[in-house]
Amino acid sequence: MDWFHCNQCFTKSASKFAVSSCGHICCEVCIKSQCSICGASCSYLAITDEMKPQEKVFFKDPVKLIQSELGHVSQIAVFQQTQMEGVTAHFKRKSAELERRLKEVTEQAYQLSELRRETAELKKPLSQRRTPTSFSTPTTQTPNVFQLQFMAGLPVQSPRH
Ligand SMILES: [Zn+2]
Ligand SMILES: [Zn+2]
Repeated sequence: MDWFHCNQCFTKSASKFAVSSCGHICCEVCIKSQCSICGASCSYLAITDEMKPQEKVFFKDPVKLIQSELGHVSQIAVFQQTQMEGVTAHFKRKSAELERRLKEVTEQAYQLSELRRETAELKKPLSQRRTPTSFSTPTTQTPNVFQLQFMAGLPVQSPRH
Protein backbone atom coordinates (compact mmCIF):
# COMPACT_ATOMS: atom_id res chain seq x y z
CA MET A 1 0.00 0.00 0.00
CA ASP A 2 2.44 2.67 -1.16
CA TRP A 3 1.08 3.84 -4.50
CA PHE A 4 -1.18 6.66 -3.23
CA HIS A 5 -0.54 10.23 -2.18
CA CYS A 6 -2.43 12.97 -0.41
CA ASN A 7 -4.99 14.48 -2.79
CA GLN A 8 -4.39 17.93 -1.27
CA CYS A 9 -0.61 18.33 -0.77
CA PHE A 10 0.46 15.34 -2.88
CA THR A 11 2.91 14.00 -0.31
CA LYS A 12 3.66 10.30 -0.33
CA SER A 13 5.70 10.21 2.83
CA ALA A 14 3.21 11.09 5.58
CA SER A 15 3.10 8.69 8.53
CA LYS A 16 -0.71 8.49 8.41
CA PHE A 17 -3.28 8.66 5.64
CA ALA A 18 -7.07 8.48 5.65
CA VAL A 19 -9.70 8.05 2.96
CA SER A 20 -12.83 10.19 3.22
CA SER A 21 -16.40 9.12 2.60
CA CYS A 22 -16.33 11.42 -0.47
CA GLY A 23 -13.50 9.27 -1.87
CA HIS A 24 -10.48 11.56 -1.33
CA ILE A 25 -7.21 10.52 0.33
CA CYS A 26 -5.66 12.96 2.77
CA CYS A 27 -2.47 12.94 4.82
CA GLU A 28 -2.75 13.59 8.55
CA VAL A 29 -1.90 17.28 8.04
CA CYS A 30 -4.64 17.85 5.43
CA ILE A 31 -7.45 16.09 7.31
CA LYS A 32 -10.11 18.64 8.27
CA SER A 33 -13.68 18.18 9.53
CA GLN A 34 -14.74 19.15 6.00
CA CYS A 35 -12.87 17.51 3.09
CA SER A 36 -10.00 19.84 2.15
CA ILE A 37 -10.39 18.86 -1.53
CA CYS A 38 -14.13 19.05 -2.23
CA GLY A 39 -15.40 20.74 0.94
CA ALA A 40 -17.96 18.05 1.78
CA SER A 41 -18.67 17.17 5.40
CA CYS A 42 -17.30 13.67 5.57
CA SER A 43 -16.07 10.88 7.78
CA TYR A 44 -12.58 9.40 7.50
CA LEU A 45 -11.24 5.88 7.50
CA ALA A 46 -7.61 5.47 8.52
CA ILE A 47 -5.60 3.59 5.90
CA THR A 48 -3.93 0.82 7.92
CA ASP A 49 -3.40 -2.95 7.81
CA GLU A 50 -6.28 -3.27 10.27
CA MET A 51 -8.89 -2.24 7.68
CA LYS A 52 -11.62 -4.71 6.84
CA PRO A 53 -10.86 -6.94 3.80
CA GLN A 54 -13.59 -5.24 1.72
CA GLU A 55 -11.90 -1.86 2.50
CA LYS A 56 -8.34 -3.12 2.06
CA VAL A 57 -9.09 -4.50 -1.36
CA PHE A 58 -9.26 -0.91 -2.75
CA PHE A 59 -5.54 -0.47 -2.05
CA LYS A 60 -4.28 -3.74 -3.49
CA ASP A 61 -2.64 -4.25 -6.89
CA PRO A 62 -5.47 -5.11 -9.34
CA VAL A 63 -3.18 -7.39 -11.37
CA LYS A 64 -2.30 -9.39 -8.25
CA LEU A 65 -5.98 -9.44 -7.28
CA ILE A 66 -6.90 -10.88 -10.69
CA GLN A 67 -4.09 -13.45 -10.51
CA SER A 68 -5.15 -14.53 -7.04
CA GLU A 69 -8.83 -14.61 -8.06
CA LEU A 70 -7.99 -16.59 -11.22
CA GLY A 71 -5.99 -19.06 -9.16
CA HIS A 72 -8.95 -19.36 -6.80
CA VAL A 73 -11.45 -19.68 -9.67
CA SER A 74 -9.32 -22.34 -11.36
CA GLN A 75 -9.16 -24.25 -8.05
CA ILE A 76 -12.97 -24.09 -7.88
CA ALA A 77 -13.24 -25.26 -11.49
CA VAL A 78 -10.86 -28.19 -10.89
CA PHE A 79 -12.74 -29.14 -7.71
CA GLN A 80 -16.12 -29.14 -9.46
CA GLN A 81 -14.70 -30.94 -12.51
CA THR A 82 -13.30 -33.69 -10.26
CA GLN A 83 -16.70 -34.01 -8.59
CA MET A 84 -18.44 -34.26 -11.96
CA GLU A 85 -15.96 -36.85 -13.25
CA GLY A 86 -16.54 -39.01 -10.18
CA VAL A 87 -20.31 -38.94 -10.70
CA THR A 88 -19.96 -39.59 -14.45
CA ALA A 89 -17.65 -42.57 -13.84
CA HIS A 90 -20.09 -43.98 -11.29
CA PHE A 91 -23.05 -43.81 -13.67
CA LYS A 92 -20.99 -45.21 -16.55
CA ARG A 93 -20.10 -48.24 -14.40
CA LYS A 94 -23.74 -48.54 -13.31
CA SER A 95 -24.94 -48.33 -16.89
CA ALA A 96 -22.47 -51.00 -18.07
CA GLU A 97 -23.52 -53.26 -15.18
CA LEU A 98 -27.22 -52.82 -15.98
CA GLU A 99 -26.62 -53.50 -19.67
CA ARG A 100 -24.76 -56.70 -18.76
CA ARG A 101 -27.64 -57.77 -16.46
CA LEU A 102 -30.21 -56.95 -19.13
CA LYS A 103 -28.32 -59.13 -21.61
CA GLU A 104 -28.21 -61.98 -19.08
CA VAL A 105 -31.92 -61.71 -18.28
CA THR A 106 -32.82 -61.51 -21.97
CA GLU A 107 -30.78 -64.66 -22.62
CA GLN A 108 -32.39 -66.41 -19.64
CA ALA A 109 -35.86 -65.39 -20.84
CA TYR A 110 -35.05 -66.79 -24.27
CA GLN A 111 -33.73 -70.04 -22.74
CA LEU A 112 -36.84 -70.27 -20.57
CA SER A 113 -39.15 -69.89 -23.56
CA GLU A 114 -37.10 -72.55 -25.38
CA LEU A 115 -37.44 -74.90 -22.39
CA ARG A 116 -41.20 -74.25 -22.25
CA ARG A 117 -41.49 -75.02 -25.94
CA GLU A 118 -39.46 -78.22 -25.52
CA THR A 119 -41.54 -79.22 -22.48
CA ALA A 120 -44.71 -78.71 -24.49
CA GLU A 121 -43.21 -80.86 -27.26
CA LEU A 122 -42.26 -83.62 -24.81
CA LYS A 123 -45.72 -83.64 -23.25
CA LYS A 124 -47.41 -84.02 -26.60
CA PRO A 125 -47.05 -87.81 -27.25
CA LEU A 126 -48.69 -88.55 -23.86
CA SER A 127 -51.67 -86.36 -24.61
CA GLN A 128 -51.89 -87.91 -28.03
CA ARG A 129 -52.12 -91.37 -26.46
CA ARG A 130 -55.15 -90.16 -24.54
CA THR A 131 -56.66 -88.76 -27.73
CA PRO A 132 -55.62 -91.17 -30.50
CA THR A 133 -57.53 -89.35 -33.23
CA SER A 134 -55.21 -86.38 -33.23
CA PHE A 135 -52.50 -86.08 -35.83
CA SER A 136 -49.00 -87.25 -35.11
CA THR A 137 -47.11 -84.18 -36.20
CA PRO A 138 -43.96 -82.70 -34.75
CA THR A 139 -45.52 -79.25 -34.29
CA THR A 140 -48.64 -77.88 -32.64
CA GLN A 141 -49.79 -76.49 -35.96
CA THR A 142 -52.60 -78.07 -37.88
CA PRO A 143 -50.95 -80.10 -40.70
CA ASN A 144 -51.31 -78.46 -44.07
CA VAL A 145 -52.23 -80.14 -47.32
CA PHE A 146 -48.57 -80.76 -48.13
CA GLN A 147 -47.99 -82.63 -44.83
CA LEU A 148 -51.24 -84.61 -45.15
CA GLN A 149 -50.24 -85.79 -48.61
CA PHE A 150 -46.82 -86.81 -47.32
CA MET A 151 -48.29 -88.69 -44.32
CA ALA A 152 -50.80 -90.45 -46.51
CA GLY A 153 -47.99 -91.70 -48.74
CA LEU A 154 -49.34 -89.77 -51.71
CA PRO A 155 -47.00 -88.30 -54.31
CA VAL A 156 -46.04 -84.97 -52.89
CA GLN A 157 -47.04 -81.94 -54.88
CA SER A 158 -46.51 -78.35 -54.03
CA PRO A 159 -49.82 -76.85 -52.82
CA ARG A 160 -49.33 -74.05 -55.41
CA HIS A 161 -49.80 -76.48 -58.39
ZN1 LIG B 1 -1.75 16.43 2.60
ZN1 LIG C 1 -13.78 15.24 -0.78
